[in-house]
Amino acid sequence: MSFAALWESLLPIGRDGLSGGYRRFSWTPEDVACRAWFTRAAAERGLRVLTDRNGNLWAWWDPPGLAPGATGAPGVPGARAVVTGSHLDSVPDGGPFDGPLGIVSAFAAVDLLRERGCLPVRPLGIVAFSEEEGARFGVACLGSRLLTGAIDPAVARALPDAAGTSLAEAMAAAGHDPGDIGPDDDLLRAVGAYVELHIEQGRALADLDAAVGIGEQIWPHGRWRLDFTGRPDHAGTATLADRRDPMLPFATAVLAARQAAASHGALATVGKVTAEPGAVNAVSARVSAWLDARGPDEQVLQAVVGQVLAAAREAAAGHGVELAAEPESVTPAVEFDPGLRETVASSLAAQEIPAPVLPTGAGHDAGVLAARLPTAMLFVRNPTGVSHSPAEHAEPADCAAGVRALATVLEDLACR
Ligand SMILES: [Zn+2]
Repeated sequence: MSFAALWESLLPIGRDGLSGGYRRFSWTPEDVACRAWFTRAAAERGLRVLTDRNGNLWAWWDPPGLAPGATGAPGVPGARAVVTGSHLDSVPDGGPFDGPLGIVSAFAAVDLLRERGCLPVRPLGIVAFSEEEGARFGVACLGSRLLTGAIDPAVARALPDAAGTSLAEAMAAAGHDPGDIGPDDDLLRAVGAYVELHIEQGRALADLDAAVGIGEQIWPHGRWRLDFTGRPDHAGTATLADRRDPMLPFATAVLAARQAAASHGALATVGKVTAEPGAVNAVSARVSAWLDARGPDEQVLQAVVGQVLAAAREAAAGHGVELAAEPESVTPAVEFDPGLRETVASSLAAQEIPAPVLPTGAGHDAGVLAARLPTAMLFVRNPTGVSHSPAEHAEPADCAAGVRALATVLEDLACR
């Protein structure tokens, strides 16, 4: 199987020598190296490579006699393309599998289809979406959001990274024209189905003793910003009774998040916090915290967030602290296309590949694209259950099972 060689050739790019984690942020030299790797892998297979206006990379296996349309995307009515893929960018110190597993498996699946003597009767594409993690510019699934029109291109161009470089500047520096980003309906119209293979970001498959699974839905999720404003004071002279310390209601909010999530079967996390002025020997003036909450349905999500905010407000009032709470982004539940899911399930069942159906709490490009075309997801077992960390893992045998499952699905969708 060609998987191992492809995997090994991608592995060194963007790996930090000290942490062992990956730092592949969009439009950086590491990202450019990942793109060159993708282009090389496509060229080795005789696939036609195209960078779309939003910086997403596509490799096309055109059926014999089917010429590409004006945009370079296949555009023949009645032969809408089948696309698979994922992303190559990472979170800070992420693991090697989140994203790249889907792309390496896609190239390996093309090799397997050729070994089986399959020829596509409709175009078969492999895509690498740009800035899926939102690690550099703060908006997750930025490449697929731009493609589908889910974000205003002017807003996207101005998004700053931590050093103040805008997306437009970063794109231009990497040689991509940012003036042309935005919805691309011609390209979307050419695609009839998108199937994304991804490492599982939990332990469900390990518990079910299955190497691969099928995505059912993405939980609704969102981010809320909480600003607690108190009164800065001296840690050595201000009496406890006189203080208006914003750190205390903040602490209540963190504990309330854990409690609310546990009692509702949901998830809530405070992973980012800043304190101003941030002095060891001072009562803070302001504490800003970000609550990430996810639940099996919107009612549960609202209940969890409502409970956290109520606890935060009550604690803030008790300490003479002001609280401003604003949602920064809220994404509704995404149900993957039931028809496509059924097709995927029956393809796998016909080959006797067991694949339980699972929900996920993580966002994906397949979730963004679901607003415009039928999408489905395959998950590969991650025995550690850990994600966004170098500890995420997939055994070679499970990677091979993922490639076989993906090739089986692609064969039924694109070659018949
Ligand atoms: Zn991912």
